[in-house]
Amino acid sequence: MRERQVIAPEELKRQEEICARVMERVTADGQRPLAMVDTYGCQQNEADSEKLRGYLALMGYGFTQDEFQADVIVVNTCAVREHAEMRVLGNVGALNHSKKARPGQLVCVCGCMVQQQHMADKIKHSYPVVDLVFGPHELWRFPELLDRVQTKHRRVFATAPSDGAVAEGIPVRRDGKVKAWLSIMYGCNNFCTYCVVPYVRGRERSRLPEDILREARELVAAGYKDITLLGQNVNSYGKDLPEPVDFADLIAMVNDIPGDFRIRFMTSHPKDASEKLFQTMAACEKCCHQLHLPVQSGSDEILKRMNRGYDSAKYLRQVALARQYMPDLVLTTDIIVGFPGETEEQFNDTLRLCEQVRYDAMFTFIYSKRVGTPAASMPDPYTREEKQVHFDALTALANSISLEKHAAYEGQTVRVLIDGETGRDEYNLSSRTDGGRLVHLKGDPSLVGTFADVKITASSTWALYGEITE
Ligand code: SAH
Ligand code: SF4
Repeated sequence: MRERQVIAPEELKRQEEICARVMERVTADGQRPLAMVDTYGCQQNEADSEKLRGYLALMGYGFTQDEFQADVIVVNTCAVREHAEMRVLGNVGALNHSKKARPGQLVCVCGCMVQQQHMADKIKHSYPVVDLVFGPHELWRFPELLDRVQTKHRRVFATAPSDGAVAEGIPVRRDGKVKAWLSIMYGCNNFCTYCVVPYVRGRERSRLPEDILREARELVAAGYKDITLLGQNVNSYGKDLPEPVDFADLIAMVNDIPGDFRIRFMTSHPKDASEKLFQTMAACEKCCHQLHLPVQSGSDEILKRMNRGYDSAKYLRQVALARQYMPDLVLTTDIIVGFPGETEEQFNDTLRLCEQVRYDAMFTFIYSKRVGTPAASMPDPYTREEKQVHFDALTALANSISLEKHAAYEGQTVRVLIDGETGRDEYNLSSRTDGGRLVHLKGDPSLVGTFADVKITASSTWALYGEITE
C-alpha cells in the first residue's frame, strides 16, 4: 500500500504566517479588499471553496458576489463533464470586462478542470486575464501562491501531477449555519472508464477519525444540525489507515457525539456498500435513511465496460438489503446515458432497472468524453440526437416516479429540518425531510435551524408542501 502523504503542520503554519503578511499589505490603505469565490461542480468543490474563503478571510478579504467589486476572483472549477468546462471558460473569458474596469483585479482559476494539463495550457495561452492557476493538490498553499502573484507581478501556474496528500488545519469559512459539508477522504481509486476524477483528484486518502470527529464536534457546538460526510466513495473510508476502521465505524462514532443533529453522506459506490453499513445506518438514530447509490447503467455489458465492479443483480441485491434494514429508505442514483456503443437494448435494461428500483430521485447525464480516460477511445457510433431521445425517455420516467413517490407523502406528518428562506410569500421557508426531500413551508424566519413536524398537504415532481403542526 502506498504510504499516506500528510502535509506537515509547519507547512500549514507557514501559510498562516503568509496570510498575516498579505493582510498587512492589502489592508495598508485602511480599506477592506473584497474577494469573490465562484464554485462549479460537486459538494467536494463546495467544501474546497469554504477553505478558499477561510484563507481569504485570514488574508483580510471581505466577500462579494459582484465581480466588478472584487479585488480577487477565484473560480473553482469542475472537469466531470464538458458542459461545466464550457461554462467556466465562457465566464472566465467574460472577466476581461471587470478586470478592465478594476485594474489590479486578480483572477485565479483552481480545481479539477485545470489539473488537466491541456486545460492549464489552454488558459496559459488563450486566457491572459487569468493570473493564477492551481489544481486541487495545491489548495493548501493558496496563500503562498496568491502572495507570489501579488508581489512578483507575474502569472503563476501550479498544476504538477500528484497522487495527493492530506492537509489538516486549513481555515474554513462555511456558507450556512444549518448544514455543513465534512470531507472524510479525498481522491478516488476506482477508475471508472468514463471518469476524470481519479486523474485530477489523486489516490484515495482518508482523514484520521480523530480529525473528523474533532471537526464534527466543532460543527455541533457551533449549532449545525445537518452534517454531510463527503467522499468520492465513502465505502472505501479507512482502507489506507493503519488502524482498523471502516465507514460504518465512523458513522457510529459521529452518531455518538451528543446533540440534536443529522448525519448524511455521499457518495456510496455499489461495488463495496456492505451489510454492516446498512445495519449501522438503521441502528444510528442520527443517521438519515437516505442513500445515494449511483448505478450508472442497468446493462451488465455496459457496467463491465464502465469498470464499475458490480452487475445489475448485485446492485439489486444491495437495494433489497438496504430496504430490508430501512423500509423508509430514500434512494437516489446517478445514470449515464449514451456511454460509447450503448445500444437500444442496453438502454432499455437501464429503464427496466429504474422501473424495478423506483428511485425517489435520479440524476441523469449524457455521456461526456473526457480526455485521457479509457472510454474516450472506445467506438462511439451513436449520435448526440439519438442519445438525447434516450435521455428524454429516462428523464420522463424519473419524473413520473418522483411525482408518484411525492404524492404518497400527502396527508403524512414528517419531521423536517428548516434550513432556509425561499424569498417567496406563500411558502417562505424551505426544509428537508430525514430522507432529504425538499419541503416548502410557511412560518416565521426565526424557525430556520430548527426541527419541526410538518403535515404534507401538496406535492409536485420536485418538492413537497406542508404546514407546521403544533
Ligand atoms: N464518485 C461518485 C461520482 C462523482 S461524479 C460516484 O462514483 O458515484 C458524479 C456523477 O457524474 C457520476 O456518478 C456519473 O454519473 C457522472 N459522470 C462522471 N463522469 C461522467 C462523464 N464522463 N460523462 C457523463 N457523466 C459523468
Ligand atoms: Fe469517478 Fe468512478 Fe471514482 Fe466515482 S467512483 S469518482 S465515477 S472513478
